[in-house]
Amino acid sequence: MLQISVTKTTHPGSLPPADKLGFGSVFSDHMFLMDYSDAKGWHDARIVPFGPLSLSPAANVFHYAAEVFEGLKAYRCADGSVQLFRPRENMKRLNASAQRMGLPSVPEEDALQAVMTVVDVDRNWVPAAPGTSLYVRPFLFATDPTLSLHGVHEAVFAVILSPSGSYYAHGMNPVRIMLETDDVRAVRGGTGYTKCGGNYAASNRADAHAAAKGFDQVLWLDGVERKYIEEVGAMNVMFKINGTVVTPALTGSILPGITRRSCIEMLRAWGVPVEERLLSAEELIQAARSGALEEAFGTGTAAVISPIGELSFKGQSYTVNDRAIGPTAQKLYDELTGLQWGRRPDPFGWVCKVDGN
Ligand SMILES: *Cc1c(COP(=O)(O)O)cnc(C)c1O
Repeated sequence: MLQISVTKTTHPGSLPPADKLGFGSVFSDHMFLMDYSDAKGWHDARIVPFGPLSLSPAANVFHYAAEVFEGLKAYRCADGSVQLFRPRENMKRLNASAQRMGLPSVPEEDALQAVMTVVDVDRNWVPAAPGTSLYVRPFLFATDPTLSLHGVHEAVFAVILSPSGSYYAHGMNPVRIMLETDDVRAVRGGTGYTKCGGNYAASNRADAHAAAKGFDQVLWLDGVERKYIEEVGAMNVMFKINGTVVTPALTGSILPGITRRSCIEMLRAWGVPVEERLLSAEELIQAARSGALEEAFGTGTAAVISPIGELSFKGQSYTVNDRAIGPTAQKLYDELTGLQWGRRPDPFGWVCKVDGN
């Protein structure tokens, strides 16, 4: 067990009303911090009042971007209890990301304990209004105070908490997606399978281009052949083609989403055929043209399921399912959110209560 010291804030804040939460800009009273050095390993695990960090301007993370993060949510159930969804998977992925970036890994048990403890300390920040949650952001970055590129010898692991509004406060609305043919997000052998900050910086320009053209997100193609579908924005993507759900295989350049995996496991449990394979843009567009494409949707922690109503490729637009939410997307959304907020029994053993003592 990690020894975690707790220093409570002397100025507790209060949870804003649900319609004022939005995403990612309100923070709870406390945060978790832990330091790493080669000499001491991970040490000084602590929960302290949320506030600015003090780092050398030369800190590695500012220049060379040795940073990885995770994203999960704490949900308030009807009985008042608080729970997480498959948090151990996030901690495994955190370490897979850290390893790729040469950052020290955090023992999975310790990372989980850090998340559970800080959520418990700030459990009154888990909102209760429908669709709201406490977004949990663990992150790990190199703090070596030197511009020399000499590997990572000092790091910080932190967890901050942000109460968030309902993603679908105005109802689930199918999005418009543009296939990106210029920029690429990741290549095999690169960092695409990690949640490292740099991947998102590298996406900014394509996001801005798509937004300027009136699209909500970009659909990435593989970086080598620019031929195969990878993911949509910061979500994995699934297509129902002739009754089969097809999703890009995890080739190394795609983020292994926990929502993706949960959808695949659920669909298989329901007897829906699922294929994880290479899917070319050409095959997808052909399916859209012929009517074989029945549904398209993104999957990720933030939205859970995000139906796609329109695909644009090389200036040509294709509507999907008449811009309506398809039955598979709706069922996955209902079942997953049912588990997450504790409204349904959990046959998969995916939810994890935060104790409260
Ligand atoms: C986080 C993320 C996802 C979704 O992962 P979940 O574990 O389902 O939240 C998909 N793609 C990218 C690029 C991501 O950053």
